[in-house]
Amino acid sequence: MKRSVIIAAALAAMAALPAAAQTYPTKPITMIVPFAAGGPTDIVARIVAEPMSRTLGQQIVIENVAGAGGTTGITRGAGAAADGYTIMMGHMGTHGAAPALYPNLKYNPARDFAPVGLAAGTPIVIVASKGHPANNLQEFIAWAKKQGDKSNHAHAGVGSVSHSTGILLNSIMDTKPTFIPYTGTGPALNDLVSGQVDYMTDQIVNVVGQITAGSIKAFAIATPQRSPALPNLPTTREAGLNNYEVSAWNAIFAPKAVSDDVVKRLNDALVKALDDPNARKRLDDLGGVIPEGADRTPAALQKLVESEVARWTPVLKEAMANAK
Ligand code: ASP
Repeated sequence: MKRSVIIAAALAAMAALPAAAQTYPTKPITMIVPFAAGGPTDIVARIVAEPMSRTLGQQIVIENVAGAGGTTGITRGAGAAADGYTIMMGHMGTHGAAPALYPNLKYNPARDFAPVGLAAGTPIVIVASKGHPANNLQEFIAWAKKQGDKSNHAHAGVGSVSHSTGILLNSIMDTKPTFIPYTGTGPALNDLVSGQVDYMTDQIVNVVGQITAGSIKAFAIATPQRSPALPNLPTTREAGLNNYEVSAWNAIFAPKAVSDDVVKRLNDALVKALDDPNARKRLDDLGGVIPEGADRTPAALQKLVESEVARWTPVLKEAMANAK
């Protein structure tokens, strides 16, 4: 065979490869954030998307698709073309709590996605408005019991992290507040700062700035250890609430049928983002827990999703029954 024919044959074979395998990504990637801008999912997404874009050589564009506790955006992402140009920033709500709270959920968190990797662990903090009469967790619990449905509890929609960790807290405190849903805890936090709502349980990365600035109160962090970002804030255990220990997380998912090559490229970019000094500092300052080593793999995320769905389903069914 002549040399030119061989080259032509090789080129033809390359052209037959899926475009993704050759040069992915060749255009901007959309990352769906299933909540309003400014909240914790949006914050984590923007922190990792910036260095990921640099590694991939293409911009990751954040698209906020809020609604139904994050399940609207994730449903859209699950059904997007599996070409690597639409990915999602999910979390403990969309991929852990939602199945317990949405009998007709249009996706299965463990089966309908290609996990890319964990972006951050986000401990839960119990926060209240600045003018709240309670000065510690025990006073807050006494207040919440006394107020009943006169107290306003903000959350980011049924099945969100703030909703599921919130109904769990109410169930443990044996309180029945009035719920005020938002499209994300970014806007909920604004109303907490202005005193329109009384309290919320949220991911630490959203609230560290306002706690430190003194524009909201924090009563406890729901982890076994204190956070270096809020060293003066007691743990729930220290504050006398032993059975409320909950942590959330944010993680990147792609539609199920995406190629292994695309997952590899995205995971590699995420791993590099988590080693980026600027991204690390931003996550550290906000109290985010940076995944290390094997916790960064797609396989570890798959396992996490499965264990979270199994863990939250009975807990939330019981908490919902108590809420009635
Ligand atoms: N932290 C929120 C939640 O409660 C969502 C967000 O705004 O990121 O799920």
